[in-house]
Amino acid sequence: LNYPTARFLISAPTLALCPEDTGAEIAFAGRSNAGKSSAINALTQQNSLARTSRTPGRTQLINFFTVANDSALRLVDLPGYGYAKVPEAVKLEWQHHLSEYLRERYSLRGLVLLMDVRHPLTEFDQMMLGFADQRNMPVHILLTKADKLKNGAAKNALQQVRSRLREWEDLVSVQLFSSLKRDGVDTLSRRLDQWFAP
Ligand code: GDP
Repeated sequence: LNYPTARFLISAPTLALCPEDTGAEIAFAGRSNAGKSSAINALTQQNSLARTSRTPGRTQLINFFTVANDSALRLVDLPGYGYAKVPEAVKLEWQHHLSEYLRERYSLRGLVLLMDVRHPLTEFDQMMLGFADQRNMPVHILLTKADKLKNGAAKNALQQVRSRLREWEDLVSVQLFSSLKRDGVDTLSRRLDQWFAP
């Protein structure tokens, strides 16, 4: 699919207010600051489709984008999680919305999980993997900001994450990604194409 055709569709604060649960959706999730907005912008070749470095802590929304002018093909930007300064009650509320979306959204075909290559597989990341596992949904992990490491170190990080996820290798794939260098965009596009394919 031609991801640069992506357009903003709607924002929803809860699962109940999301667009009709038909067609196919691919969601992007990650710790706040993992590089999710930058990755969506790199994929869609748009500088401000997903807002980078949102002020964390204010109400966050689930943002929907259409692909190829087809509202049955959607990319979904989930709220970033794990921002330390958010009050506990807000964190729990967001955890609830996220888990509800991930567990119950019928049209969800796959989850792109973003992790800073220098800090992969946090407790929250593992919780997301758990939700995906519960419903047998595939996950594609982007190890982001790969440009921050030397080549060898980045490859090492990739191998380590792969070996830690060996028990899930049927459902989980992992790649290095750099929005800054636009490295890994093609691999990501191919993965999304596979998931969107009927
Ligand atoms: P989000 O909170 O997950 O949406 O993260 P953002 O996309 O806003 O990125 C967080 C910070 O990391 C920003 O300062 C970005 O400029 C930076 N960043 C994102 N992607 C990359 C990357 O590929 N390389 C480098 N060096 N910095 C990045």
